[in-house]
Amino acid sequence: MSWIDIPNDSDFSIYNIPFGIFSGPHGKKRIGTRIGDIVVDLEAAADTGLFGDIDIDPDVFESTKLNPFIRQGKKITNAVRERLQATFADENSILKNHPKVFFKLEEVQMHLPVDTKDYTDFYSSIDHATNVGIMFRDPENALLPNWRHLPVGYHGRASSIIPSGVNIHRPKGQTKPADGPPVFGPCRLLDFELEMAFILGKDTELGSNITTEDAPDHIFGMVIFNDWSARDIQKWEYIPLGPFLGKSFASSISPWVVTMEALEFAKVEGQKQDPEVLPYLQYSGLHHYDIQLQVGLTPKASSETMICNSNYKHMYWNMVQQLAHHTVNGCNINIGDMMASGTISGPEKGSYGSMLELCWGGKREVHLDDGGIRKFLKDHDTITMYGHAGKGNKRVGFGEVQTMILPAT
Ligand code: MN
Repeated sequence: MSWIDIPNDSDFSIYNIPFGIFSGPHGKKRIGTRIGDIVVDLEAAADTGLFGDIDIDPDVFESTKLNPFIRQGKKITNAVRERLQATFADENSILKNHPKVFFKLEEVQMHLPVDTKDYTDFYSSIDHATNVGIMFRDPENALLPNWRHLPVGYHGRASSIIPSGVNIHRPKGQTKPADGPPVFGPCRLLDFELEMAFILGKDTELGSNITTEDAPDHIFGMVIFNDWSARDIQKWEYIPLGPFLGKSFASSISPWVVTMEALEFAKVEGQKQDPEVLPYLQYSGLHHYDIQLQVGLTPKASSETMICNSNYKHMYWNMVQQLAHHTVNGCNINIGDMMASGTISGPEKGSYGSMLELCWGGKREVHLDDGGIRKFLKDHDTITMYGHAGKGNKRVGFGEVQTMILPAT
C-alpha cells in the first residue's frame, strides 16, 4: 500500500493524512502530516515541487499555525492531502530522494495546530446530560425543558487550550463546603471530560448564519478534546451564568487535525430526535460519526487502566446542528475556532466520559488495575484519551491527548 512502513494498528494510515504543527531538531515550527510513525515536513515537501501544479500559496507552509493553510479552502487542502496519499503510495515518489522531508516521531515536538480565537463547549450527549440531571436535580425530569429543543452550549476560554503533553497544575479557587462559608484552596474534585471538537474552516460575516446544509463546507477537521473541570469550583460558581473558573484553567487537545474527508467512511445515522426540532435545526444526510473513544488513567509510577470506552456516535445533537444553532443569531465565526461536543457518555456505566459520572457524584469507587481507587483525580495522575474510526482494515485515528496533573502551585 505504501513504501513507508506503517504499523497495522496505526491511527495514521494512508487513509488519514492529518495536518498539524511540529518542530523538529531544527527547532522551527512547521506544518506537517503524519503517516505511521513518520512526520512529514510539508514545507520541505513543497520545496521538492510535490504541490507544483496545485494553486496554493507556498508561504502557507512556513506558517506556525494551520490557519493560513485552512484559509486556502477545502478544494486546495483536499488536493494537498490527496497528493500526499498518492505520493506515499507511489514507489517512484519524488520524496524518496529527499530524506530531509521526514522525521521520526521521537525527533519532533507537537504544538497547537491552530490559532483559536473562540472556543465553544456544547452539552450534546443525552446520556451525559441525563446522568448529570439525575445526580444534581430530579431523576424524574433529568433533562431541563430546553435540552431536546436546542444544543445547549456556553462560551469557553480559548487562551488556555493546550496541546497533548503539556501538563497542568491542579487549579485553585473558591468552593463552598456544605456546612460553612466559602473557602479558598486547591480544587478537590478535579475531573476530565471526554469530548471531541471540530475546527472551523471559513470566516463568516457578522449578521450571517450557516445552515445545516452548508455546515459541512465550514468544518475543516476534528481533534480529541479534554475539557478539564474543577467540579467543586464549578458547583459554587455556576449559578446563574454557567461555567467559568471551574473550566477555564485548561482544555487539552490531540495535536493532529483529522480532516472531515478522512472521516467520511465513519459516518452513521444518529438517534431519532423526539420531539421534532425546529426547521433551522433539521438536516438531511448522515452527520454522526462512529469514532471509538477511550480514556486511560495512569497513576504516578504505575500502569494505565482504561476507565472509559465510549463512542462519538452517541451524540444527540450533531455538528451541523451545533453550527447552525451557534450562528442562527448572526454570530460570526473565524477560521480556527473550536466547537467541542460536550462530554461524550454512552448508555452503559463503562462508557461514562467523566469521573463525575464514573464515580456517580462520589457515591461509587473507580477501581484501577494497580489496586488503586479513585473518585476524582489525584496529583500525578495522567489522563490519556484515544480515538479512532475503523472499518475492515481501514483505520483513521487521532492518536492521543495526554496530560499529567501536577500539584497546585
Ligand atoms: Mn465540557
